[in-house]
Amino acid sequence: VRWSGQSVDVAGRDDGALELPGLNQAIRGHLRTVTTPEFAGLRFHEVVARSALNAVPGGSPMPFSFTINPYRGCSHACVYCFARGTHRYLELDTGLGFDREIVVKVNLVSVLERELARPSWRREHVAMGTNTDPYQRAEGRYRLMPGVIRALAASGSPFSILTKGTLLRRDVPLLASVRADVPVGLGLSIAIWDDELHRSLEPGAPSPRARLELVRALAEAGLPCGVMLAPVLPWLTDSEEALDAAIGEIAAAGATGVTAIPLHLRPGAREWFLGWLEREHPALVPGYLRLYGRGSQASKEYRTWLAARIRPLVARHGLARRPPAAHRGMPGDVEASFPAGSLPEERPRSGPVQETLL
Ligand code: SF4
Repeated sequence: VRWSGQSVDVAGRDDGALELPGLNQAIRGHLRTVTTPEFAGLRFHEVVARSALNAVPGGSPMPFSFTINPYRGCSHACVYCFARGTHRYLELDTGLGFDREIVVKVNLVSVLERELARPSWRREHVAMGTNTDPYQRAEGRYRLMPGVIRALAASGSPFSILTKGTLLRRDVPLLASVRADVPVGLGLSIAIWDDELHRSLEPGAPSPRARLELVRALAEAGLPCGVMLAPVLPWLTDSEEALDAAIGEIAAAGATGVTAIPLHLRPGAREWFLGWLEREHPALVPGYLRLYGRGSQASKEYRTWLAARIRPLVARHGLARRPPAAHRGMPGDVEASFPAGSLPEERPRSGPVQETLL
C-alpha cells in the first residue's frame, strides 16, 4: 500500500481497502478498512464522524465539559486499559480487538471546525486523551492532532492532552506556538516503571524512559507537563520504594505535578487484566479478588492507604504545589487520587458508544 504523503482520500479506495461484511453496519459511518505493512497487525477502520466534541454529563466531578477522541481502540494495548469495554459497543472484541482494530475519525478536523464555529460554542475547556490515546500509532499516519490543535486554538478554546505517546514530540513546536493564544495543559501517563512489567502490560506503548524524556523535553520547551501515575497496581507497583523512585524521577524531569490513581477494573478491562494476572502472577489473584470484589474500584481501605502513602512522597519531591491553571484535569490538578465513584462517563453526542476516562 502506498500512502500519499500522510493524508487520506476518504472518498477513495486503494489496494489496502477491505470490505468487511457486517462490520460496516456495526461501525457507524464506516468508509473502508485498511491494513499496511508499516502498521503490521493493526487494522484501521476509517469512519465519517458526525460529531467531534463529546459533552461530559452535568454533575461530573471532572473539571472540563468537553472531550475529543480521534480514535477508538488503542494500539498501546495496555492490559489494564479501562476503555476496553467501549469496543463492545462497536461489536468489536474488547481484548486483542481493542488493541488491533482501530477506528479512525478521518473527517474529525472539518467536523470540529464546524462545531467550533457555531455561535453557541462558548470556548469551553476541551480535554483529549480521556478515552483512548490521541497519540497512539495511528496518529503517525493520520495526523489528526495538528488540525485539532489549530482549530481549538483558532477558536480560542483552551485544551489539554493526556497521552502515553511520544509522538506528541512531533507537535511540540505547534503546541508552543498556540500557547500564546489559549491555555494548554499537557500530561504524560507513566505508571509502570519496571521494563519487564512494562513490556508485559503495555506492549504497544513507548517505554517509560522515553515518556520521561518527553516530559523533560516539554519542560525545556516551556510547556508545563504533569504526570499521571496511573494505574498503581496493588502488590506490583505500590511499594514505598517504587513510588518514591517514580515520583523522584517525575520531579527531576521537571513535571509540574503528579496524580496517582489505583487500578480501575471496569468490565472489559477486568476480564483481560485478571486473565493476565492469572498467567503472570497467579499468587496475587486471591488478593485482587479480595480488594476488588465484584466492583471496578479497589476497596476504600486500599485507596485511603495508597493516598496516605503517596501524599508525603509528593510533598517530599516538591510536587505538592498547585499546577498552572491551564492544567484542568491534568495530573497534579487532583492531589492524590480521584474519590470513589468520581470517574465520569462521557455522553457521546451521537451513537451508542460509551466513552470513559483513559
Ligand atoms: S490505557 Fe491509554 S494508552 Fe493504554 S491502551 Fe488504554 S487508551 Fe491506550
